[in-house]
Amino acid sequence: MWAVVRAVKRAFRYRFYPTDTQAAELARTFGCIRKVYNLALAARTEAWVSRQERVTYTATSAMLTRWKKTEDLAYLNEVSSVPLQQTLRHLQTAFTNFFAKRSRYPTFKSKKKSRRSAEYTHSAFRWRDGSLTLAKMTEPLAIVWSRPLPEGASPSTVTVSQDPAGRWFVSLLCVDVIPDAPATTAVGVGVDAGLDSLLTLSTGEKITNPRYERADRARLARAQRDLARKEKGSANRAKARLKVARVYARIADRRRDHLHRLTTRLVRDSQTIVIEDLSVRNMIRNHTLARAISDAGWRQFRAMLEYKANWYGRHLITVDRWYPSSKLCSTCGALAETMPLDVRSWTCRCGVVHDRDVNAARNLLAAGLAVTACGAGVSPQRETSRTGRPAVKQETSGVTQGIPFL
Ligand SMILES: [Zn+2]
Repeated sequence: MWAVVRAVKRAFRYRFYPTDTQAAELARTFGCIRKVYNLALAARTEAWVSRQERVTYTATSAMLTRWKKTEDLAYLNEVSSVPLQQTLRHLQTAFTNFFAKRSRYPTFKSKKKSRRSAEYTHSAFRWRDGSLTLAKMTEPLAIVWSRPLPEGASPSTVTVSQDPAGRWFVSLLCVDVIPDAPATTAVGVGVDAGLDSLLTLSTGEKITNPRYERADRARLARAQRDLARKEKGSANRAKARLKVARVYARIADRRRDHLHRLTTRLVRDSQTIVIEDLSVRNMIRNHTLARAISDAGWRQFRAMLEYKANWYGRHLITVDRWYPSSKLCSTCGALAETMPLDVRSWTCRCGVVHDRDVNAARNLLAAGLAVTACGAGVSPQRETSRTGRPAVKQETSGVTQGIPFL
């Protein structure tokens, strides 16, 4: 039998320990990136507000060349020029997303709150026998190889970052060859983001938050209380802030591990995975749902499903969030008139007793499978949402590049 294999771009992330010189160089680079990004954003905003002019990436790149020649900004020449160019590209992407109504207007980077990261393309690093040296540095980075890179892999892009807890990471984007996961007998699975459980599957399985979650949360609350009691500007306050960041980083790490295991299992076990197209931004506004949703890291969950489905040759289908998955009987198709959030189980006119979330997951699966049977975007049970978009859509493939959190 022929095995289907595909080459995908995949990010491999590792911790590393910079020397004092390297840490200083990177801190300087982060500062310059922030400066360039903010200057370019200001220029683009000004051009639009006062002259209704759109400024392109190329134009901002020319501005950067001019800024470097001024006395005030001459220090920009001290760091590698590649991460500065890359940040202008990221700004361009942010504007593209804004114009396509996928995201809000870009905001300024702040010293304390923004992610500290720098992206190097191949001209700005040297990769030799598994050692990585960045531009403007003499020594290679001391990387902890917690797992091997694929055989013979060579990174095309390298991203260095520091998290709020002070830990350093380097992410290497490499081409990896992945065989299709073996075919399964399970046709598909519907996944409902529940209220009581983290997720409910159409098989009836409920996936809860891991047990350590509560303890972690208590620890975070304690650290935050400690921080609030410390005097502003004091050394103790700085210490307390780092403590909060460490607890938070630990929570994020464990959540990511949990989601990785979960998404890998879902993708391996099913040919088709159907999820709801929740808009996290809108859900967060609803306070009763806020914690459940943000904890679950739905966005992260969905992104992982997207690229893993792509790697392993599976289908991921999203169903519009206005699709009445909770109100529809998955057995007879009758639509209940109302379904308040506190109703955990209900009995349909046809006599079937439904668990609210399992029923919703089954409906999602049915809606999704209708798409695969009829081709993308065509569904016999097509529902039109308030926004006028079709209720069911097929995920486009090709979203394996630029994975930010692996
Ligand atoms: Zn029914």
